Amino acid sequence: MALFSNDEINNIRANADIVNVISSYIPLTQKGRNYLGVCPFHEDHSPSMSVSSDKQIYKCFACGAAGNVFTFVQDYENVSFAEAVSIVAAKCGMEVSFDPTKNVAVDNYAKEHKIMELSQKFFANNLKTSFGKEAVKYLNERGLSEDIIKEFGIGLSLDTNDSLLQLLTKKGYKTDELEEIGIVNNSNGTYYDMFTKRITFPLWDKDGNIIGFSARVYRGEKNVSKYMNSRENKIFHKGDTLYNYHNAKDIAKREKEIIVVEGFMDAIRMSSVGIKNVVALCGTAMTKDQISLLKKLRCKVILCLDNDNAGLIATVSNGDELVKENVETYVVRLTGEKDPDEYILANGAEAFIENIKKPLTYFDFKMDYFKHNRDLNKVEDLSQYVNDVLKTLSTVDDSILREVTLNKISKEYNLSLDVLKNRLEKFEPVVIREKEEKKEVVKTKKDSYMIGSERILYYMMNDEKYIDEYQTKLGFFNDPMYREIANEIVYYYETNKEITVADFITYVSSKDSIKGKVMEIVNESINDDLTMEAMDEYIDAVLKVSHKNEIKRLKELMKKELDQDKKMKIALQIMELKKEDV
Ligand SMILES: [Zn+2]
Repeated sequence: MALFSNDEINNIRANADIVNVISSYIPLTQKGRNYLGVCPFHEDHSPSMSVSSDKQIYKCFACGAAGNVFTFVQDYENVSFAEAVSIVAAKCGMEVSFDPTKNVAVDNYAKEHKIMELSQKFFANNLKTSFGKEAVKYLNERGLSEDIIKEFGIGLSLDTNDSLLQLLTKKGYKTDELEEIGIVNNSNGTYYDMFTKRITFPLWDKDGNIIGFSARVYRGEKNVSKYMNSRENKIFHKGDTLYNYHNAKDIAKREKEIIVVEGFMDAIRMSSVGIKNVVALCGTAMTKDQISLLKKLRCKVILCLDNDNAGLIATVSNGDELVKENVETYVVRLTGEKDPDEYILANGAEAFIENIKKPLTYFDFKMDYFKHNRDLNKVEDLSQYVNDVLKTLSTVDDSILREVTLNKISKEYNLSLDVLKNRLEKFEPVVIREKEEKKEVVKTKKDSYMIGSERILYYMMNDEKYIDEYQTKLGFFNDPMYREIANEIVYYYETNKEITVADFITYVSSKDSIKGKVMEIVNESINDDLTMEAMDEYIDAVLKVSHKNEIKRLKELMKKELDQDKKMKIALQIMELKKEDV
């Protein structure tokens, strides 16, 4: 959080009542001193989220979510921390001093992102020079206007093989840094540009940072691959990237719909005709990370992959995965042209939009798909078809759809409804059990040392007097994670001269190493009033375990010690520790 001050954020937090803010998203009912609601962060119907008005925090007993008003808004709206702060500020009539659309939080890869940005600007500028005439002509012929070229940061890498290298090294970047993020290559100590003679398309991460390029030839060259992509590196991971996500996410949330295509050219083409809620997989198989990005949008997903066999198979495998994750999934299969890009070029935007407006539910698509390559006049094919349909139907949690489908098949193929129902039941139990199990969060069993340590840390987050008590009576955790959190709490208090759990959550939200653990501690903390007696009991419990470990260590040491005097000293130490436990 380097660019905005803790004071400003804590002030906003103090002015925003968490109960008001959360109840603007989900209904809350008061129960004693707390408020209860259905948690939006996991699939549920019963109220498992508790919001504390006193402490200004929330926690979910089912999925482990926890945090303060900012983390709630951040996760609910799927925005950056800075954006969440400005949304909360706006809700209570305040303004923020920073630009929340900029990446205000600490960017761990600021330098790498800067290099990518400079490279993109260089490429984009090349198009405007005399070297770029042919490339611009090519782009225009493919129907890409100046606006679209600008919107998608399209550029050109030159024919010379070190022009970008020259530029970046002049700006002080080292060749090995450039090589590491795949902007230059190295052959026996000679460095040269990774991309030459190609039209370049920047690739972004979910937040809109440029992380790599895809580049294609444009002069009809033979014997080279049409596309060349950045190799994976510390900022570019293909599997967690969805092309155009940063542009599409807000629009998709508003329109409650996101269209998923295969190639980035499809996304650019669709955008150029005004369909902006589109992302591209840049491949066919969807990864878990990509699915979780889509899930965050909380909208329906329309799969519109290529019109070939690979695209069909990918539609099934990706669709199955999405449905498993409870994403409302639809399918559009184009006919005639290969992909959305070519379809729009050949048939125009109107025709394409007609398709998108009438997507099949994933279930209906699947029913059609099962007919693929089968002759339903043949008994064997029909039997396999019915089996596939029933298997899929057993995973559907919709009794009306089941009834309708069974009736339809029964009539269409002249099969007994009872037989179909019996068969369906055979598939059922397994799937439904799987679904329920998913809700449970695996919690590790904690011993008294862990419980004690975590309670102590929770107490410390709440009040300086517990920090004092910790420093006087314990002062140190053997466990490095607990130690780091304790040190952060002490540091936070020393800098801010006051501490609340809600403000401390803000502070750790940019500290990835301890954030998860702190949220877990907050989530599992008790709701009761905190007392010094309880704090002291936890300290005793932790000391006992620590003493036990220390005694064990000293005993080992004593065994190895040959010097009698030293042996005696260790024995005394052990006795001392044992005495403290009584
Ligand atoms: Zn939850």
